[in-house]
Amino acid sequence: MNLIRKAAKDIKNAKMAIALTGAGISTESGIPDFRSKDGLWSRYDINEYGHINSFKKNPAKVWIMLKEMISLLHAKPNPAHYALAELERIGYIKAIITQNVDNLHQEAGSKNVIEFHGNFKRVVCMNCGKKQSVEKIDMQSLPPICDCGGILKPDGIFFGEAIPRNAYLTSFELATKCDLMLVIGTSASVYPASQLPYLAKGSLTNPKGIVIEINKEATDITGIVSDYIIEGKAGEILPKIVEEIKFIA
Ligand code: NAD
Repeated sequence: MNLIRKAAKDIKNAKMAIALTGAGISTESGIPDFRSKDGLWSRYDINEYGHINSFKKNPAKVWIMLKEMISLLHAKPNPAHYALAELERIGYIKAIITQNVDNLHQEAGSKNVIEFHGNFKRVVCMNCGKKQSVEKIDMQSLPPICDCGGILKPDGIFFGEAIPRNAYLTSFELATKCDLMLVIGTSASVYPASQLPYLAKGSLTNPKGIVIEINKEATDITGIVSDYIIEGKAGEILPKIVEEIKFIA
């Protein structure tokens, strides 16, 4: 059977389908993932700029990269984001756990979005904890400063920081309860989000759900955790799945 049709049937038959998304779902919106050749990460060493200790040591330096990253976040949702929002709207997807910090699922209309790594469209003061929209802050001189004098940090996590507690607990509960997980545009290599497909799948002695990958290429979980992979661009594959679900509904 064609894999688009198979995925549509599996989603339709699932009692509780959820999605786990990563940077790859936003590449077609113009936001590079970690692997893209000319992406942000080819110019900024992730160990140097991506760790909370680097930020604490030299926030002005890390904010140069953050400012560039935040400017990319003016991107718009692409057909993959809209297709997932549609799947939620018509009752086939219960939640999206996203590793992305770009807010594009919410902008596409998805309601139940768990921000596993936070959201770079907000900033938080490292002194008073106040959160505000990134649009409202002055980035003329870096690092940007809160009214209280504290240093502002994107309200997303750096390497070395804990996953926001509620997002962590909700995601692990959803992954344990679901009987189908779509794993879209993620290399499934960043811990602990990388554990969620394993929870959805269950174990050999206690098999649980179906795990379907949508990715341009095979990943660490392909053939180990995922039942099958639909190879290609998420922005082309997901709208076809939605169309097929509506056709067989
Ligand atoms: P990753 O860069 O490790 O992997 C991206 C995956 O997406 C790869 O497997 C790649 O083959 C696939 N991919 C790329 N374009 C695709 C497309 N059009 N269709 C389908 N698949 C496609 O990303 P990750 O697994 O999300 O982990 C990296 C971390 O980087 C995450 O923690 C995430 O928070 C962060 N990040 C977020 C953004 C964002 O918010 N948009 C961007 C870059 C990095």
